[in-house]
Amino acid sequence: MHHKVKGIVIKESSQGENSKLLTVLTELDGVITVKAKGARSILASNLKSVQIFACSNMLLYCKNGYYTLVDAELIDDFYAVRESIESFALASYLCEVSGSVAIKDSENSVVLQLLLNSLYALSRNFASVRFIKAVFEFRLACLIGFEPDINTCAKCETELDLSAQNVLDVQNGIFLCSACSGVTESSVTEYGTGISVSRTVIDALRYIINAKSSRIFSFTVDDNSLCELGKITEIYLHLRLEKKYKTLDFLKSVL
Ligand SMILES: [Zn+2]
Repeated sequence: MHHKVKGIVIKESSQGENSKLLTVLTELDGVITVKAKGARSILASNLKSVQIFACSNMLLYCKNGYYTLVDAELIDDFYAVRESIESFALASYLCEVSGSVAIKDSENSVVLQLLLNSLYALSRNFASVRFIKAVFEFRLACLIGFEPDINTCAKCETELDLSAQNVLDVQNGIFLCSACSGVTESSVTEYGTGISVSRTVIDALRYIINAKSSRIFSFTVDDNSLCELGKITEIYLHLRLEKKYKTLDFLKSVL
């Protein structure tokens, strides 16, 4: 039976003399494994589609739950992410994390779209590696059901005063005002599982939550705020995923 999918290769490995096994994150079928027979001598028109990071419309032959690639129409190979080790490391990390949150036989189009937008921004140098990483991490956490209420204090339910020091309790995914968290501007910056968050970073987090998917990278922050944002987004996402990612260790080793 033939089956059409839109998907991106998030992992590739050699199989036998002349074939590849592709791990593909699809729009509607979760993560699937596709055999590309003779991939190393495959038709030139399909060659770019059987490489890691390539997004294509694929025609697959499906038998007993196994997929074989019949034909592919390349959408984008994001080839430029290979131009620096940092970009390559980030692209690998984005792919591994996206694949890990995709649900089998389920609609994953929002996760796929976020991954494609991130790889697009990265391959076209629209933003820095650290910036794309931070935006991706927080947006993904929101997309998979962990969007925090970023407007009101979870304890006293008053609107957060952005001129004061507010705290994000990363463990519980809640914001606390300065009075409820006990943090004052001059005292501590970390409180239990809470991290004090500057106004600039709160604005950035709000932007990442609310922006249209095509506009998520269309804002700027200064270097200090990006550093703060990046720490928060990484902790926030990984407390929820509870999984080790080799690609994150690699990315950190090159940044
Ligand atoms: Zn409060």
